[in-house]
Amino acid sequence: MRPNKHQPVVFPPAAATARESPPQERPQAPRKEQARGMPACPAAITEAPPKKQARGVPADDLHCTPSDLGVCCLCLEDSPPPVQAGCACRAAAGLWHFDCLFRAVKACFERKRKRNYAWMFTCQTCEQPFTGRLRMQLAEAWFDSVHARPEDDMERLTAAKNMGNCLCREARLAEAGDVLGRVWAVESRVLGPEHQHTLTTANDYATALVKQKKNAEAEEIFRHVLEVQRPVQELPHENTLIFKSNLAGCLYGQQKCAEAERLLREVLEIRMRTAGGQHPATIGIVCKMAQCMACQGRYAEAEALAAEALATQGRVLGVEHPDTLSTKSILAKCMYKQQKHVQAQEHWTEVLAGRKRVLGDAHAVTQATARNLAHCFSKRPGQAE
Ligand SMILES: [Zn+2]
Ligand SMILES: [Zn+2]
Repeated sequence: MRPNKHQPVVFPPAAATARESPPQERPQAPRKEQARGMPACPAAITEAPPKKQARGVPADDLHCTPSDLGVCCLCLEDSPPPVQAGCACRAAAGLWHFDCLFRAVKACFERKRKRNYAWMFTCQTCEQPFTGRLRMQLAEAWFDSVHARPEDDMERLTAAKNMGNCLCREARLAEAGDVLGRVWAVESRVLGPEHQHTLTTANDYATALVKQKKNAEAEEIFRHVLEVQRPVQELPHENTLIFKSNLAGCLYGQQKCAEAERLLREVLEIRMRTAGGQHPATIGIVCKMAQCMACQGRYAEAEALAAEALATQGRVLGVEHPDTLSTKSILAKCMYKQQKHVQAQEHWTEVLAGRKRVLGDAHAVTQATARNLAHCFSKRPGQAE
């Protein structure tokens, strides 16, 4: 399933574009500080290249489902079983062999004089980022291929930043913080602290902090990048919208939900005008708004918003996309809070099944869902407490 054809999905050039954090869910680990007028840029963190995992995906890690039984969309072979890319292409449209994809990307790199790094993490069919195992494998292979270069090499910096963002999405937060912190330090030195790349890396680093529940520290960084990013033109820069939305997520994490909601409304108003209501970025804001409303006890309102977002994401991203599953989890929570335990349990059961397939059993988010489901089940009529 692709995003609406009439509403083309345009993702700005990768390296200069910040990541918008998906709706948040869980915690982890520590870091150090340094002070000035500006938030601390972690200069002294030693780079720890993430642990390598075997490239060939072990058969038992494939969680084959009927939708996985298809052919690689590049070589058209079904052996070894190809992996779901996890972008908006679902089922047979999104199956790849990692090796085929990596070779294709390398070939694209060699044909063009100006490299488009977005190929390393964005599907060229649906123009949405890859997710899950395929994205992680690509990130590792890319980083390996440039690791020996000097630390300030632009491609190496971009590959490291992509790796940090992948680790963050995989909930390997301490590692993500180390990698992104190091990239931020090098970019601050080489490009300057106000360069667009430096700011987006700061945003990504702060996003990793938010996921570790270090919201106060992250808030300082988001406010700094927004300050530097001050709009020059009439329409705010794409990154301004992303920074603002991530700041809102960080305020939400500190229970400052009214201010978060106000920021999100500003972003949503612009997203609706410029990208439209079907764009994944717009829907992402709607999901965050639903969370803010729920946080303020407005569960019915939040439920309606989450249900609307879920329907759109199911169409645009697919029902098992990680963002769609996150929204379904928000919806389940709203229902649970309104004592609709049976419906909440149904939704969480689906979320859990999807996350097991897409993220794996061991992923922190999968386990958090399992806990929610167990808790919800214990509240059903006729169940022991
Ligand atoms: Zn293939
Ligand atoms: Zn795709």
